[in-house]
Amino acid sequence: MLKKLALLLCFISLVSSCTPASRAQSDTHWYDALPRASWSEYDLIDTKQNWFEVYQLNENTYAIYEPYQWQEAISYLLIGSEKAMLVDTLQGIGDLKSVVEQLTNLPVIVVNTHSHFDHVSGNYQFDNIYGMDSRFTLDNAKGHDHSVNAGNMTADTFWKNVPENFSADTYENKPYKISKYLSDGEIIDIGDRPIEVVFTPGHSPDSLVLIDKNNRMMMTGDSFYPAPLYVYSATSSFRDYANSVQTMLKYRSDVDFLLPGHNETMQPASYLAKLHAATLAVQDGRTPSTIGDSGNHTYQFEGFSLIVKKPLDY
Ligand SMILES: [Zn+2]
Repeated sequence: MLKKLALLLCFISLVSSCTPASRAQSDTHWYDALPRASWSEYDLIDTKQNWFEVYQLNENTYAIYEPYQWQEAISYLLIGSEKAMLVDTLQGIGDLKSVVEQLTNLPVIVVNTHSHFDHVSGNYQFDNIYGMDSRFTLDNAKGHDHSVNAGNMTADTFWKNVPENFSADTYENKPYKISKYLSDGEIIDIGDRPIEVVFTPGHSPDSLVLIDKNNRMMMTGDSFYPAPLYVYSATSSFRDYANSVQTMLKYRSDVDFLLPGHNETMQPASYLAKLHAATLAVQDGRTPSTIGDSGNHTYQFEGFSLIVKKPLDY
């Protein structure tokens, strides 16, 4: 899963001409691994379009997945008795709002796990957006013009089913307005379904996880998914990340499943302890790593890896 590494490097460097060409020259394609077998465990919902795949995870929870673009981004729609919460809004490629409206007629609150473009670019379609009161968040809410993320939308990052009205040549990240600032530890009740907001900086300064104790789920964004985890960018902090993993670990008896922002959903909560052990292994200085072209260190663990920059800010 080096694909996201190339993409994030493009994102961080803000180089408009950056493309994942080196991967395209290899014998294999990123989509050869798709469809991922784990999605077949859930019911696929027909939403009259073919860009997003929508899966019902339980009676009141949907995953909205983009399997035809390199990022394989995932958002989640949580249905309460009074409101719905949309966790992340993906990349602004398809018409996410129409999909959400087919799944619920309740008022929708958008909460982003962080403000990287692949989690917020559908925000502009929604009015009620909760976000962090941080400089990083507010800067990203201003949107980005085409040059910033064009490198993430090259032809070889798409597999198939690209919406007719989408053009990679004019792709941009539209601005949006945050309607309410979040507090660490805040409970958002969408009706018989309290969702706890827990700040987990590290991957980005404004990363957070959402905990749904009723359904024993933790929405983890990019703080955890079963693939290379990025803690190396100019705005990442390994120190913060390690502390945040400790915070996430405190909830291990409250949740059974982690719902990540990329690739696969409903991962076992046992990953929390493994992630904690991994951060300790990175800190101990004796665990072997591989060094990539960019000088970042990759530490491989079972089911995921951690990519960090050295020296650690610890
Ligand atoms: Zn991210």
